[in-house]
Amino acid sequence: MEHDDLSPATRLVALGRVPREPGAQVGAPLTLTSTYHADGPASYARVANPTWSAFEEALGSLEGGDALVFASGMAAVAAALSLVPHGGRVVVPSAAYNGTLVTLADRSEAGEVVVSQVEVTDTDAVVALLDGAAMLWLESPTNPLLDVAEVEVLAAAARERGVLVAVDNTFATPLLQQPLTLGADLVVHSVTKYLSGHSDLLLGAVVTGTDDAGRALHERVRRHRQLHGAIAGPMETWLALRGLRTLSVRLERASANAATLAERLTGHSGVTRVRYPGFGAMVAIEVGGDAETAERVSAATRVWVHSTSLGGVESQVERRRRQPGEPEAVPDDLLRLSVGIEDVDDLWRDLSAAIDAATGA
Ligand SMILES: *Cc1c(COP(=O)(O)O)cnc(C)c1O
Repeated sequence: MEHDDLSPATRLVALGRVPREPGAQVGAPLTLTSTYHADGPASYARVANPTWSAFEEALGSLEGGDALVFASGMAAVAAALSLVPHGGRVVVPSAAYNGTLVTLADRSEAGEVVVSQVEVTDTDAVVALLDGAAMLWLESPTNPLLDVAEVEVLAAAARERGVLVAVDNTFATPLLQQPLTLGADLVVHSVTKYLSGHSDLLLGAVVTGTDDAGRALHERVRRHRQLHGAIAGPMETWLALRGLRTLSVRLERASANAATLAERLTGHSGVTRVRYPGFGAMVAIEVGGDAETAERVSAATRVWVHSTSLGGVESQVERRRRQPGEPEAVPDDLLRLSVGIEDVDDLWRDLSAAIDAATGA
């Protein structure tokens, strides 16, 4: 079936299914096997799995490219970074997902890569670092400061200089931003978050373009997956595809909740700063300077779940600096809010009462 004429909300539901034939299954295949009968298109399950293909078909279509599923977001990050040649320089936001930054710091210490950190909202500063770089790594919005980069301008500048552009699109999801159409070479996802959406699995993905250069990158990333062996479990992949079916309704509701909460939090006397990019369902707040106050907020909620991670149906709150490796640019009292799909007034009452109690506001 040709799906290019259908909107993303429809493609989410329709893709990754077996052909429509009388008696064929409507649900996507869950294939649990380590190997296949010889002489077919697939030989061994570290190389190919029909459940992967189903998920990859759906995600690839949404991003406008070819997707490869990985065992976690970090496995996808590692696969994308494997494209940087030995000694190559990577330009990266000074505050981004800590796993990515710590990986780069470790590899830099080992002499494998050179890292240039930059304020990603300062487009001129990013461009000034691109000459001679091997890869521009973007996250937009960033985790957890919610900085937004000018992806299209930066990707064009990088392309002119032969610099590969990777965008971690975990926060925006392909429904709000398609980096390949903005000029990126690679899209990276922690599928663990919005795409699967239920806080019940870890999974990642890398998506590449469909032109010749994109296909060449795809083959290198696919080979990395096959040989490094960080492959996705079929069960997790099947659950992720099941979760992906509802992404548009989940994100619509969570984004509306986030917009409402960002506005109300801006007027709360216990909140000293609200970060909200104006789209998506992530919000970050600061509550007056010290870590203890922020910890008291996250300990006092009844509806919001105090836990790390994000993008699930349940609202989650966490003081980010409690994570080792979180960049110092992240304020000590910053609480990251992953807004879920609950009733917005319940979320507001719960959170504002916790802030009142913690800050004496
Ligand atoms: C969580 C996250 C990752 C890592 O994904 P895992 O699935 O936890 O391995 C990468 N990038 C961003 C922006 C994330 O939020």
